[in-house]
Amino acid sequence: MKDRLIALARSFGFEECAFASVRPVRQTGPLHPQAAVLSEEITDIMPDAKCVMLCAMPYRPFIPEAGQAHVDAYYLTSNRAHEAVQQLARAIAEQLSLSAVPSPPIFIKPLAVRSGLGEFGRNGLVSVGQYGTRAALQTVLLNADLAAPEHEDRALSPHCTSCGACVKACPVGALDGTGRVDISRCLRAQPEGEAFPEPLRKSLGGSLLGCDICQRVCPRNAQVIPAAMPDELRRALDLSQLLSGNFKPLIPFLGKNNARRQRLTARALIAAANLKRHDLLPLIAPLRECRESEMVKEHAEWAYDQLNHAE
Ligand code: SF4
Ligand code: SF4
Repeated sequence: MKDRLIALARSFGFEECAFASVRPVRQTGPLHPQAAVLSEEITDIMPDAKCVMLCAMPYRPFIPEAGQAHVDAYYLTSNRAHEAVQQLARAIAEQLSLSAVPSPPIFIKPLAVRSGLGEFGRNGLVSVGQYGTRAALQTVLLNADLAAPEHEDRALSPHCTSCGACVKACPVGALDGTGRVDISRCLRAQPEGEAFPEPLRKSLGGSLLGCDICQRVCPRNAQVIPAAMPDELRRALDLSQLLSGNFKPLIPFLGKNNARRQRLTARALIAAANLKRHDLLPLIAPLRECRESEMVKEHAEWAYDQLNHAE
């Protein structure tokens, strides 16, 4: 059965899979606001669940381009993986006659370590073999007991023993070296729908979504070769277009959840200021009067001020 599940998952783009028990996942430390909806008790979601199937869809990061608005390649693959796992669950039910619940609200990273799919790192991310941390993870709950012998949920990768590159590289000091991430500081973890903390804005550079720094320096990613950003995505990330409200070309890349208008407008305002795009001031100025969103209005005031007064 395992082999058939793995072959099916591969046909949907999940290159690596593993199976974990449904034992509860105990959380320690502060949670990301989006994680508040996650359940420690897996069988609360599917009472007859017997195992969690962990699936990894690898990706290649984009080659960094100075002076350019960008998003992390992770978000494109995470969007694809979310769609693919729904299809995978349907195929499992139809072809293998198992009950399968895709994308349940559970803590994926400890389960990925428990299953042996990956190893936890000081940067708070799980690496999956040759793909390193460059993989979007998804899960399916199954009513078949396929779990392998278990690994400890938060065991640190041996790669981390004599390394601390991510801790040193993080521009905002969000990593303490234990694998915990200070979510109040991490650039990637800032909750959607809230103003981006002002002291952290300059560290974002031209990024509209994500921060890649602690992955770029990680030796676990040594085998993953970055790729050029597709031209179509580059066009969709044009700041003058985003500040004019045209964010729809980004939806096919990022999905509706990630391409929300107010969040993207706020991030485009930060990027415009950080990239010193004085040419965008005529588009930024009217957003200071934005009636739809206090967040956009405040970010516009900040960007306007930065471009007019900062050196
Ligand atoms: S950069 Fe080094 S310490 Fe940090 S996660 Fe990677 S291997 Fe571990
Ligand atoms: S994603 Fe960026 S801000 Fe967050 S821990 Fe890594 S380097 Fe620091």
